Amino acid sequence: MFLSVHSTIGLIIGKYSANPILAFFVGLISHYCCDIIPHGDTKLPKRFNNLVHWSLAGIIDLTIVFINVVLLIYLRKINIYNLNFGAAFLGSVLPDFLLLAYFLTDKKFFIRPFKFHEKIHNLISKKYEFNFYVGLGLQLAAFVILNLIFFYLC
Ligand SMILES: [Zn+2]
Repeated sequence: MFLSVHSTIGLIIGKYSANPILAFFVGLISHYCCDIIPHGDTKLPKRFNNLVHWSLAGIIDLTIVFINVVLLIYLRKINIYNLNFGAAFLGSVLPDFLLLAYFLTDKKFFIRPFKFHEKIHNLISKKYEFNFYVGLGLQLAAFVILNLIFFYLC
């Protein structure tokens, strides 16, 4: 699932968490819970399944995360010194950065988080998966809805 979706969930968790440690772990668990939901990326068309497209998608996703977080902090006047937001944000995106670390560095060190992430990710999507474009649409809809929730309810 996109980091932009995970990170928005992280901010919502940060808003309602009692302390940074709890915020971090709830954010972390939220990442795996969301990745269980089929979201089409295992049906990625072969022509897009290469390093260039993955890198481009990652850069676009991270740019959206950055702009979204800055906008939400500015528009909602979030106290950036409140550690709950940072801790929940970190927990909600950490699994995908561990995945990136697995691909870019010593695979032995990151094999356990990688295998766990893959297992979680394929739990349902192994048997049932959306079409890639349907999954893309669902993730975009989730991103918009989560931002509306954060903007109006948090
Ligand atoms: Zn993930």
